Amino acid sequence: MSHFARKLKQSLSRRPKPQSWPLSINGSIQKIPIKYTRRTGSLALKHLVEGWCLYCPEKASLKKVEQMLTQSQADFERFIEQHSPAIQAKQQQATKQRQGLEFSWLGEKRLIDGALEQLEPQLIKEAEDYLLPKVRFYAKQMQLSPKQIKVKNYKSCWGNCYHQRGLVQFNWKLLQAPEWVVDYVIVHELAHLVHPNHSRDFWSLVQQHYPETPNAKVYLQQSGNQMMQFLAK
Ligand SMILES: [Zn+2]
Repeated sequence: MSHFARKLKQSLSRRPKPQSWPLSINGSIQKIPIKYTRRTGSLALKHLVEGWCLYCPEKASLKKVEQMLTQSQADFERFIEQHSPAIQAKQQQATKQRQGLEFSWLGEKRLIDGALEQLEPQLIKEAEDYLLPKVRFYAKQMQLSPKQIKVKNYKSCWGNCYHQRGLVQFNWKLLQAPEWVVDYVIVHELAHLVHPNHSRDFWSLVQQHYPETPNAKVYLQQSGNQMMQFLAK
C-alpha cells in the first residue's frame, strides 16, 4: 500500500459514524438523527415524540452504516411521505385530548396549552433552570462537587448518578412534585457520589442532609407513577 493510500485509509477509519442522515421529504431535505444501539440488528426507522429517528446497530462499521443508509434512503423517504399525514393527525388528536388538562409544576397549577411537542422541551428547559442551581446548592452543603449535572427524560426513574464520572442526572418530570420532594431526590442522587449503593451508610448520609427523606419517599411511592406517565405516549 502506498504512503498516500495508507494515509487515506487512516483518515477514513478515523472519520466518525454519521450522527444524522439527510432525507428528501416532500421536496425538502431533513436531517434525521441516528441512534446507535445494541438493541437492533438492522437499520430501522421510527417515529418518536420528537420526530423521526434512525436506529442503527452499534457494532456496524462506518462503511456498513453508510452502505445501509444509502441502500434504504429511497424506501425511507417514501415511507415518511406515506405516513406523515397519519402521524400529524394523530399528534393533533393527542394534543386536542390533552388541551386544558391541569398539571402541577413546582407547586403551582398549570394547564396544557399548545402542542405537546413544544411543551416538553419548554418544561425540560424550565426544569434545568430550576434544578441546576439547586443541585449546586446541595452539593456545596454536602461538600461534594459533581462534574456534570444533566436534566433529561427518563421513563422509570427520577435521577441517576454515575459516581465515577461525577455525573448526576435528573428526570424533568420530577418538577411535578412539591419542592420538598424534589430536594430529596437531589440529595439522594448527590449522596450516590459518595456511596454508589443503597447501603445503611448511604441512607444515613441522605437523612443527615435531608431530614424529610421518609415523607418524600412515601410521596414518590404514592404519586410517582402518575407523574411518570405525564406526556408519555
Ligand atoms: Zn438511589
